[in-house]
Amino acid sequence: MPRTAIINARLIREYGIEEGGLLVSGDRIEGVLSPAQTPPDDATVVDVGGRYLGPGLIDVHVHGGGGFSLMSDDPEEIRRYAAWVVRRGVTSFLVSTSGSNHDDIVRRLRAVAPAIGQAPGSARALGFHLEGPYINPVRKGAFPPRWLRAPSADEYGELDDASGHNITQMTIAPELPGADALIDAVVASGGVAAMGHTDASYEQAMHAIERGVTHVTHCFNAMRPLVHRDPGVLGAVMTSDAVTAELIGDGAHVDYAVARVLMRAKGHEHVALITDAMPLAGTADGDGEWEGQPIRVEGGKAVRVADNTIIGGVITLDQTVRNAVAHMDVPLHEAWAMASTVPARAMRVADRVGSLAPGLSADFVLLDDSLSVTEVWVSGERVYRG
Ligand SMILES: [Zn+2]
Repeated sequence: MPRTAIINARLIREYGIEEGGLLVSGDRIEGVLSPAQTPPDDATVVDVGGRYLGPGLIDVHVHGGGGFSLMSDDPEEIRRYAAWVVRRGVTSFLVSTSGSNHDDIVRRLRAVAPAIGQAPGSARALGFHLEGPYINPVRKGAFPPRWLRAPSADEYGELDDASGHNITQMTIAPELPGADALIDAVVASGGVAAMGHTDASYEQAMHAIERGVTHVTHCFNAMRPLVHRDPGVLGAVMTSDAVTAELIGDGAHVDYAVARVLMRAKGHEHVALITDAMPLAGTADGDGEWEGQPIRVEGGKAVRVADNTIIGGVITLDQTVRNAVAHMDVPLHEAWAMASTVPARAMRVADRVGSLAPGLSADFVLLDDSLSVTEVWVSGERVYRG
């Protein structure tokens, strides 16, 4: 097994920054090297000149970027996205998708399931995040109303089959009739039940958490707001350690002051930075089209021209980390964890990815002092060098 010793790094670990290096064996991390440790004789030594080294970033809620859509019927489109996004430090992601009706989603999942996994030189598609169709029309966000339907555990079984049992996360409005059985089905299949696009009351949300919901889809966006005599779903999220809250870290979907409130309520270990990015993320401002709707990208967000509704993010995950450091009072090591270790734990893949620990996939990112991505490794291979 070829071994590589990465030396002279500032390691970004969840509890702090420490000097040292990484010993990589094949596609795995073999161990962390202290500054005083001599690398093994058979290892190829790579001196990274004091740069930051953090675990590869993980985006668990993203619909596309670089001009590529993850809401596609073409597995090649997903592979092209994976080859593009890795340059931004993202080494794993969920394919967030949906569709206009049940048969449409079944067909789509079946068509693109072969893209789940990792192609050489690319980020890894961990599985699917199904956003809808079982969400509340009252909190539909940018979803066309005709796409939405009542929860059905039977239909979920068909979706999970079509995906090759690759549904990692399912967003559900838990207040809808039939949601309890659906939550049970998601949990029984090994998926993560998330609540989102929801008008749930505090009591309904607490019931859902007791039932097995462990994740919250883009916290604050497309959900009942917190009011002092009506705490709603957000009151439950902010006071329950059993759920991890996604936060779109662009400052446009959620004001940074509100992001700081969330951080104070939950702590970094229960907040996952996401992009909710749409296909024009990482491209220049301008007019475009998505899923048949005219849209405009401007000022850090994408809006639907018809009603000015925000339809998705346009930044990349590495930028959300820089935003958290700059605007959310979060130190770098915690901000980095919010986009790597925390989402890995929330999606129950922390035994494979998400930290600099022995036995995990050798996915890591090198950063300069301005926190810009300068080099990316996936499965022990250098796949990008800026
Ligand atoms: Zn989304």
